[in-house]
Amino acid sequence: MEIIPEKIAIGFIGLGVMGHSMAGHILDAGFKLHVYNRTKSKADGLVEKGAVLEDSVKNLARASDVIISIVGFPKDVEQVYLGQGGVLENAKEGGFVIEMTTSDPALAVDLYDKGKEKGIQVLDAPVSGGDLGARNAALTIMVGGDRPAFDTMFPVLEIMGKNIVYQGKAGAGQHTKMANQIAIAAGMVAMCESLTYASRAGLDPEAVLDCISQGAAGSWSLSNLGPRIIKNDDQPGFFIKHFIKDMVIASDSSKAMGLDVPGLDLALSLYKKMAEKGLENNGTQALYKLYQ
Ligand code: NAP
Repeated sequence: MEIIPEKIAIGFIGLGVMGHSMAGHILDAGFKLHVYNRTKSKADGLVEKGAVLEDSVKNLARASDVIISIVGFPKDVEQVYLGQGGVLENAKEGGFVIEMTTSDPALAVDLYDKGKEKGIQVLDAPVSGGDLGARNAALTIMVGGDRPAFDTMFPVLEIMGKNIVYQGKAGAGQHTKMANQIAIAAGMVAMCESLTYASRAGLDPEAVLDCISQGAAGSWSLSNLGPRIIKNDDQPGFFIKHFIKDMVIASDSSKAMGLDVPGLDLALSLYKKMAEKGLENNGTQALYKLYQ
């Protein structure tokens, strides 16, 4: 498949915090765009710009050469892809799927295998970079599947991201995302403890952040979520409920490999406390509230 935007129909499923911006970039690049979302009104802005709103996954799949999805949980991925009304039953033979939800590596392999039986090439391509990365088309995209399918879809991935890396066979994208989430998890705890300490010591939090985010402690979280913590801004960003989902997948996957991950376990236990307090729809930076 040669990627000539005017000649290719892309179907985009999942128009939430991430998907709405990502689908907008696809539309801006000149592709014919078909969209589907559980809550239809989230498609409004895209439909005004020329996207076609489909009333079912089935109709979207039948109309599209390339299908991209970024829904919430693995169970949503199963609902969208498997079964009679799903993508794999209805996508065109010779078509491509780019599944970008943060989901279970084993499910990614299952979709790849089932896609192959139907002549559909499936890539698992979860992302990192948050709501800002999606808005600025600057996502990191970690991709698993067949290398030729990756090479063919690279121009499409490039519309949404800047750092796009082929990681290996099906499931390797999701495993890379789990490594990413393990790196972030304990870092979120460290950031909240550090900023709470600075505040208790009577320091100016903005001056502290300016200083330590440029030094050896610097991180994406400190630079992008630290300022939200200082402003008491708990808006997602990245939902706590999704971070818990990721940490559970990473923890189960680690256990299956016989690997102990005490840092991840600690972060997961603290975020579960947040969910018990009814804060699962807050952004992940709201963890600082546990320290107040
Ligand atoms: P979100 O705002 O909840 O978006 C998910 C969208 O998918 C929602 O609009 C939802 O519909 C739709 N959806 C869910 N199940 C569906 C189904 N069966 N059929 C059709 N539409 C369905 O979440 P998000 O923040 O964009 O995150 C999406 C995924 O990306 C998650 O797996 C998350 O872990 C991952 N991620 C997020 C970030 C971030 O910073 N936000 C960063 C990296 C990765 P409704 O509107 O009806 O709920």
